[in-house]
Amino acid sequence: MPDLDYLVIAPHPDDAELGAGGTILLLKAQGARIGVLDLTDGEPTPHGSPEIRKRETDAATAILALDWRGNLGLPNRSLVADLEARSRLAAALRQLRPHVLLAPYWEDAHPDHVAASQLVDAARFWAKLTKTDLPGEPYYPQRIIYYFSVHLRLHPKPSFVLDISSHIEAKMNALACYRSQFIEGRPAIPRSVLEELRDRARYWGWTIGADYGEPFLCREEVGLRSLRDLV
Ligand SMILES: [Zn+2]
Repeated sequence: MPDLDYLVIAPHPDDAELGAGGTILLLKAQGARIGVLDLTDGEPTPHGSPEIRKRETDAATAILALDWRGNLGLPNRSLVADLEARSRLAAALRQLRPHVLLAPYWEDAHPDHVAASQLVDAARFWAKLTKTDLPGEPYYPQRIIYYFSVHLRLHPKPSFVLDISSHIEAKMNALACYRSQFIEGRPAIPRSVLEELRDRARYWGWTIGADYGEPFLCREEVGLRSLRDLV
């Protein structure tokens, strides 16, 4: 397992792409080492199967050019932020040693997403503990940033919006890999799911005067070394 700059932790395969796909591509283009850890296999779903979802995930992973992707094997639909899950995730954090964690936003209609957000917070803290049975050396990811892959029509005020204009097509290509989730059995009229997702990225881009954007939220303040990158 490599030391990572960024680790995106996702309840299901497709959530990392939904909430941070453009950001992953942007950071990769800037030379960062990025991984995605899916907590569950995301199945069953109406048009998917574990095999189909795995193929779709592999295809999206190739487009994102991830340095690492893993699956923690926790139960889909009944994900719980219990001590066993916390221990497994904390152990993974001690092995992957990412500087920054990207976690799902904590408010959602999907209980797996709520549990995943709580689980990342708790495992981040556990990962730094000494005198435990956890494998590896104590480690504390320096920052935690929440991305939006939510089933509620929320509009929380983000801490910042990243300009992903240069990577929107690749993000859409990565999302299109998940045919079982976004295309099969979904109405294309008046707008397909993929068109809606692109529209949302366009809206967030509009908020910062760019073509496309992805919003993020931090509980703690965001520090900057310079104002040069303001758009
Ligand atoms: Zn999900």
